[in-house]
Formats: sequence, structure tokens, C-alpha cells
Amino acid sequence: MRYRYTVIIDKERCKGCGICISFCPRGVFEFEDYLNEGGHHPVRLTGNECIGCRACVIMCPDIALELIREEIDESTYAR
Ligand code: SF4
Ligand code: SF4
Repeated sequence: MRYRYTVIIDKERCKGCGICISFCPRGVFEFEDYLNEGGHHPVRLTGNECIGCRACVIMCPDIALELIREEIDESTYAR
């Protein structure tokens, strides 16, 4: 079974501390240009592939990240 991982970011909970940027081994995060309601630059996804290690979810002090795992339909690769 193969999986695709996606991180959901709560942009208003994020305090822009950058811990997820430091810990992500795949460079999945970068800062937004705008400020959120709390006056922080939240993070956004870069488009780099998430490997589902959960380091960002575990380390985020503001519980702003959620990891979604989806099964990949391998039959689409077999054709
Ligand atoms: S789960 Fe791992 S690879 Fe995916 S965004 Fe978080 S730290 Fe990066
Ligand atoms: S660790 Fe959490 S609060 Fe800090 S920048 Fe990442 S998502 Fe935002």
C-alpha cells in the first residue's frame, strides 16, 4: 500500500515561530508574506513532497498542523 501525505495548516493558530521549517526534512514549509489576525506570518506549503514523518505536527507548539494520509490507487500506476 502506498500513501500520499498532506499537511493542513491552521493559518490563524500559527504564530510564525518557524519550528516546523527547521524540523521538516523535506522543506515543505515557508513563510507567507501576509500577517494573520494575531500579527504573525503563518507558514504555507512549498509544494515539496511530504513523507509523513510527523515531526512538524509533534513539534508545533500551537497545534496548528494536521497530517492527512490518503491511500494511492496503485492501479493508476500499473497502466
Ligand atoms: S510530516 Fe515530516 S515531511 Fe511532512 S511536512 Fe511534516 S515534517 Fe515535513
Ligand atoms: S511550528 Fe506551528 S506555530 Fe510555528 S511556524 Fe510552524 S505551524 Fe506555525
